[in-house]
Amino acid sequence: MSLPTREDALRALRPVMDPELRRSIVELGMVRRIDIAADGQAFVTVSLTTPGCPIKSHFEQQVTAALMALPGIAAVDVGFDVLSDGERSSLQERLGRSSLPEGSLAQVGTVFCVASGKGGVGKSTLTANLAAALWREGNHVGVLDADVWGYSIPRMFGVNQRPAVSTERTIVPPLAHGAIKLMSIGFFVEEDSAVVWRGPMLHKALEQFLGDVAWGTLDYLVVDLPPGTGDVAMSLAEFLPQARFVIVTTPQLTAQKVARRAARMALKLDHEVVGVIENMAGYVDDTGRLHPIFGSGGGDALAEELDVPLLGRVPITIPLREHADGGTPLVLEQPEDPAALAIRAIAARLTALRPQQPFPLPMAEPPPPKGMSLPMV
Ligand code: ADP
Repeated sequence: MSLPTREDALRALRPVMDPELRRSIVELGMVRRIDIAADGQAFVTVSLTTPGCPIKSHFEQQVTAALMALPGIAAVDVGFDVLSDGERSSLQERLGRSSLPEGSLAQVGTVFCVASGKGGVGKSTLTANLAAALWREGNHVGVLDADVWGYSIPRMFGVNQRPAVSTERTIVPPLAHGAIKLMSIGFFVEEDSAVVWRGPMLHKALEQFLGDVAWGTLDYLVVDLPPGTGDVAMSLAEFLPQARFVIVTTPQLTAQKVARRAARMALKLDHEVVGVIENMAGYVDDTGRLHPIFGSGGGDALAEELDVPLLGRVPITIPLREHADGGTPLVLEQPEDPAALAIRAIAARLTALRPQQPFPLPMAEPPPPKGMSLPMV
């Protein structure tokens, strides 16, 4: 079999995006070297924008997956170097940016967006508990509350403090349990005040939450999306081309129809839907008996329709509600509660997902340079 050429390899690498610049690494000139040895071993060097940065494991995974898909490639060795100052400034010029991102999201591994068709299905409760379960397993975790109108992450973690701004003018996310990084619009507004921001303002706020928050190194960023489909989801789709979606529904068949819309929107925007969670899947009484008060089958039906796995069924338990209200995620306080066990199993399933496929190539214009007007600070 003849081996792929350098051009074949470059073509295969085109879909690999720099998640921050949102362009193909080929187009950005970041693929420095491609050598394909006679035994099918490919050697690739990717030039990073900053030395300390980033995304090494992301590039390593994506480049390897893209090249391994070529017939004849037996193994891929990905090395890294850093763009020279001259190369950096010519890249900046080409992108029309005053600066290249220094990597607010650059060191974030996987982004999970938790979405639902309507409110009240337990999306925020699951976001908080999934994040806590991932942290409990030793991961570095952040939670972004993008449910800007119905923010509840501060309450669910019992954290309510105004974030500090660092000397580098980044927003420092408050910590839950000394380690889980949180960001929510709720940290910036008076309690119970209605947030009436319109589209562009919201877009800007989300951009700052993603771009100007010192997220640091995270294995997982779990995003609590607002229910339904709308501006925020669209903005996030633009900012987070790599996000994986998890859809929450209840067992009722009518709820499943609504949840389907959120899933469709994610798919339309080229996001990957990795599975469905059925929440409120029956009430577990003190004897451990399950009463299916919201019926059954909604989660299965939605998963089947979307052709994705049902990640799990989370029963209704009183401790889950009490801990959500009390600001301490149940999975940390009562990890053996039936709902906690279900959520922990779902978190384990999420961590076991196969590595992400190379991103599709939306090739949108890069966003304008970020200002530091911090509308919410
Ligand atoms: P959403 O984010 O979808 O609007 P929430 O997470 O705020 O929904 O949940 C709504 C209410 O239901 C909260 O009081 C929450 O504690 C409770 N709740 C959610 N899921 C469960 C469950 N499985 N068992 C008990 N209470 C739950």
